[in-house]
Amino acid sequence: MRELQGVAVSPGSVAAPVLVLRKRPALPPDVRTDADAASAVGDVERAIASVAAHLEAQAQEVSHDIAAVLQAQALIVGDPTLLDAIKRRIGDGSTRTDAVEDSFSEFREQLAAAGPYFADRIEDLDDLSYRIRASVLGVAMPSRVAPRSPRIIVADELAPADLVVLGPSVVGLVTQRGGATGHTAIVAKSLGIPAVVGCAGACELADDTVVLLDGGTGVVVAAPTREQVDEHLAADAASKARIGALAGPGRTADGTPVALLANLGGDHDVLAATDCEGVGLFRTEFLFLDRDDAPSFDEQVEVYSALLRSAAGRRVVFRTLDAGSDKPLGFVDVGHEPNPALGVRGYRIAAHYQELVDEQLRAVATAEQLAGATAAVMAPMVATVAEVRSFVAQARAHGLREVGVMAEVPALVLSADRVLAECDFLSIGTNDLAQYTFAADRQLDELAVLLDPWQPALLRLVSMAAEAAKRSGKSVSVCGEAASDPLLALVLAGVGVSSLSMAPVSIPAVRAALFELTMTGCQQAAQIALGAEEPAAARAGVRALLKIDG
Ligand code: PEP
Ligand code: MG
Repeated sequence: MRELQGVAVSPGSVAAPVLVLRKRPALPPDVRTDADAASAVGDVERAIASVAAHLEAQAQEVSHDIAAVLQAQALIVGDPTLLDAIKRRIGDGSTRTDAVEDSFSEFREQLAAAGPYFADRIEDLDDLSYRIRASVLGVAMPSRVAPRSPRIIVADELAPADLVVLGPSVVGLVTQRGGATGHTAIVAKSLGIPAVVGCAGACELADDTVVLLDGGTGVVVAAPTREQVDEHLAADAASKARIGALAGPGRTADGTPVALLANLGGDHDVLAATDCEGVGLFRTEFLFLDRDDAPSFDEQVEVYSALLRSAAGRRVVFRTLDAGSDKPLGFVDVGHEPNPALGVRGYRIAAHYQELVDEQLRAVATAEQLAGATAAVMAPMVATVAEVRSFVAQARAHGLREVGVMAEVPALVLSADRVLAECDFLSIGTNDLAQYTFAADRQLDELAVLLDPWQPALLRLVSMAAEAAKRSGKSVSVCGEAASDPLLALVLAGVGVSSLSMAPVSIPAVRAALFELTMTGCQQAAQIALGAEEPAAARAGVRALLKIDG
């Protein structure tokens, strides 16, 4: 028996033999022959077309989310500027494969300079470059076929080409690299299978080794005992049954309401199927990313009103454009910034591009009328009372009635009483609030401990915001990742947070956790967590209170 620890990204437990996706073989060198450049270019064009066609064909076979990843890859492969760069290099005397590799490297650098939001795509570029070069040389890709009997897939990192293995027999995923926001996490959540990423040593497992994988704790046990498997899976099944049996509005065991809402991006069609009290965070920037121009007013109205209609009377909070830093926009130029996370991002963009935010607010107001619904709006990355006042005035000028701001910067929490005198609600973005409280870049896996949402200092700020909300009679919600941790949700309810917004997949487990503890119990949990010195102690203290082992 051997235990490995990774990062838990998709909950659930499973035991099955592993199928390890071996690395691709090294490619032989390409030899430049006397053949003219035109025929070399023709070879590359055929290889590009074949890789793109293969990606498109795969996209037809898989679920919507995975297809979107594959189609994005096909778009990159077909980018005409890439082909131009390859042609130029071939014209300058490069071999076909050097021309491809060097052009991808150039593309890679451009993408890296565009900000960390694109980091996952950089990994994909290596895979695409390899596939085109392999096709030029006539080297077959390692065959990837979906297993026929239940298997946990283990890979260094899931490349787009690996997604074809994800047939119905794949019951879990483990990758050696990758972070909580990479493809593996997205794909596993969309398939509803447990997954662990960043699991050092996983690729050393021999094929067919039986593994017990816990996507809730990140623990991967190789060659577990029969008793271990039986015990673990029985506990998991009991907890799933308990979670599945519950439905309806969030509340604690004594009936105190704690609303459960969904965080949505481009995928608003999932709302109809989600048992929740509305949308606590609609990330409108997903409409704006990856394009040369802002979406038109009409396009925005269409998306916003469709969302309001599918909410069918439930609350919907539209967050205005949160661009800059890790989400750069092609059509928003704020000049060179040495520290983009501390630069012109979020609502600060509005100072430069008033019309972008103004048009958004007008689109939300029009969508409200078309859908016959009420919408709430909030601004991201607000730091001062003056900014709050300016956003509220801008939103009210469009007739919007429910206007709030996100608490993502400690300065805003320190002024929470004054902020709440100006607006209707606060929504705490714990991802950014952790980043700015601990001066720790949220993209850096290395600083994960500082960014742990159980950090007592972060929880104290949440508690301060909740106290201010109570004094003002207004509401405070949490819409960062903290809200999706069932145990931490109890602490947040205990400090006085009145609604929790999270990825739809996380809602059932949070509902079940709240249902089992009274509000007095949640308050005790909050006291323990706030009084702890560090995240591990906070977690352990709350687990001890609830008499949870381990
Ligand atoms: C947050 O910062 O917690 C948040 C919800 O916003 P985003 O993750 O989109 O920056
Ligand atoms: Mg944020």
